[in-house]
Amino acid sequence: MRKILITGGRVIDPATRTDDHVDVLLAEGRVAEWGKGIEAGGETLTVDVDGAIVAPGLVDMHVHLRDPGREDEETIESGTAAAAHGGVTAVAAMPNTEPAIDTPSWVEYVRSQETPIAVYPIAAITVGREGKTLTGMAELAEAGAVAFSDDGSPVVSPTVMRRALEYASMVGLPIISHCEDLDLKGSGVMNEGLASTLSGLRGIPAAAEEVAVARDIILARTTGAKLHIAHVSTEGSVELVRRAKEDGIAITCETAPHYFSLNDDDVRSYDTSLRVSPPIRSAADLAAIKVGLADGTIDAIASDHAPHSVEEKQVEFDAAPPGMIGVETLLPVTLTNLVQSGTVTLERAVELLSTDPASILNIPHGTLEAGSRADVTVFDPDWAWEVTADWFRSKSKNSPFIGRTLQGRVILTISEGKIVFEENATSDNDDGEAHAEGEHRPEELPVHV
Ligand SMILES: [Zn+2]
Repeated sequence: MRKILITGGRVIDPATRTDDHVDVLLAEGRVAEWGKGIEAGGETLTVDVDGAIVAPGLVDMHVHLRDPGREDEETIESGTAAAAHGGVTAVAAMPNTEPAIDTPSWVEYVRSQETPIAVYPIAAITVGREGKTLTGMAELAEAGAVAFSDDGSPVVSPTVMRRALEYASMVGLPIISHCEDLDLKGSGVMNEGLASTLSGLRGIPAAAEEVAVARDIILARTTGAKLHIAHVSTEGSVELVRRAKEDGIAITCETAPHYFSLNDDDVRSYDTSLRVSPPIRSAADLAAIKVGLADGTIDAIASDHAPHSVEEKQVEFDAAPPGMIGVETLLPVTLTNLVQSGTVTLERAVELLSTDPASILNIPHGTLEAGSRADVTVFDPDWAWEVTADWFRSKSKNSPFIGRTLQGRVILTISEGKIVFEENATSDNDDGEAHAEGEHRPEELPVHV
């Protein structure tokens, strides 16, 4: 394997509290060393990234790869190629496939695929995600599951959730909870408020999420288990998690880029890619999510990448299945709506997108420290560009960011020492020379051999 020397970049590695203009040398799939003026040997590929940010590979802890079952929407292969395109070098795949990932052999199926980046299976909490019988958590952990979740559905029974937390705790893995009270949700399809009234769509109150968050915090306290709340979307949920952390409960949580970028007024466009679960909330909720991201209440940003076919989304808003794709726009949407707006620093953004999700899942990613896995994301935070449908590598195109201008773009993704995405690389051109076409990073393109 050829060594890679990354020069000319600004290295941001929150795990080692590094923010410095240094070179990084990768060898044998590991970070060999970093420092100023590293000399490259003969067999080394030197990449001058020309002032771009060099960060640990991003970790997206919440993606739906739809494989097995809906390979028309996404496969493990297409979803991981999309992830590499988005600067993501590790994903945790949710088990709400058909069938659900609820046996060791299905966990092995997810792990055994040849993929450009690392894929970690999350196994179901209950058999068939039906909320009744717990899965064999010890065997699933043994097979390589990194967490348990019935995501897509809440665990309705408090008794089942309590036992799940107890068993997960025994095998040392977190429970990832999709917090939604189905009774309060009713037949709602968007956030309940003025926007739902004006649009004539049935509303889902914030309480539908917050009641479920409160229940699970109480169960986490009584069991002492590790609880992770998925896709936090409301001001009240942020406050509940903040207080639980102050009380010393072992709780972490994530939000998704759409919850700090869009509000329920946007949903009045009836764009079905804006139908998500939980729904896009009010401007006040959005502001509270930003505060939670900045003050450490929210630990991670995950895309909740949820591919759906064009046919399924080309229907009335109420009839569309919930979910939007997001693994490819995770970083640029975060840079545009959190970093450019001054809500968080670049270092905090990298922590939220890489270091902290890796630590929640206890997987060997999220740092550029010498000796760690050579997963690197290089991005230009100042590059403004317009998102187009054909830019995506996902099989699905259900993104509300199509047609919008974002600021910040991934230019190079390296997974375990191999280049898995390179801006402007062409298939018949492996010497790394850049080809100019369309809209480009204003300065020189990154790769020089
Ligand atoms: Zn969910």
